[in-house]
Amino acid sequence: MTKQILIFSDLDGTLMDHYTYKSTEALPVIKQLNSANVPIVLTTSKTIDEVKAIQSDLHINDALIVENGAAIFLPKALFKTQPKDTNSEGDYWVKSFCPPRQHWLDIIKKAPTNFASLYKGFSTLTIKELAEITGLTVEAAELAKNRHFGEPIHWMGDESSKLAFIEYLETAGATILHGGRFFHVSGESDKGRALNWLTQYYKETFQFNNISSIALGDGKNDIAMLEAADYAVQIRSPVHDFPELKKHINVIQTESYGPAGWAEALHQILPEPLPMQVCPANIL
Ligand SMILES: [Mg+2]
Repeated sequence: MTKQILIFSDLDGTLMDHYTYKSTEALPVIKQLNSANVPIVLTTSKTIDEVKAIQSDLHINDALIVENGAAIFLPKALFKTQPKDTNSEGDYWVKSFCPPRQHWLDIIKKAPTNFASLYKGFSTLTIKELAEITGLTVEAAELAKNRHFGEPIHWMGDESSKLAFIEYLETAGATILHGGRFFHVSGESDKGRALNWLTQYYKETFQFNNISSIALGDGKNDIAMLEAADYAVQIRSPVHDFPELKKHINVIQTESYGPAGWAEALHQILPEPLPMQVCPANIL
């Protein structure tokens, strides 16, 4: 029986430091995983344009889960045969799980006018404003703005108005996910559903009967992914407590923050030495 490990990792506050966006402490582990062909699936609220740049900086070349699980991008260079239920978009096969962004922008636009002054969405923030709120550079903020599947909202009002606004959005069919600095308005997709689809795809396509999935995340928008994985790693955050999980078996809460916690947990979970895995490009 072929055993395969799949790693699903959040970025902000997990593989990237909450404040500096750096991944320094995790780099040696990434190198080790790459040498053994262990896929690292970046699983993030970010857009495809943002993740591509980060993925390249980290020397990772695997499938990507973007916009909080709204879509999976599978590089054609790695997955030579088109997976079922995917579309071809440039260099990727794309599996999407929810309606496009415009659908959600229309719903937000129709919200009662008393909410209008209490929030700003990515689509209405200028690139400069977005850079200021997120701490991203202007170039990075431009990539972040180009979303395909949902709209992040920066709330400026009080908590009770926020709850009323969220209730309106949910009644209109939206699903709300709470990220670090924004809440995301999108369809009924989450990182867990995307993890399950990709894990199943690996099982069916590569006949890997024994897959261990490891998910690493720090935020509430990682809960579904952490619950769905065989091993859940909750990365310690400098700005909030560990979100509560329903599962308690095979759950690690790290001592260190961000990328240092990421490396710490994988050292604990992964076998030593790491067995060589089969790369999809060598099979398909
Ligand atoms: Mg995070």
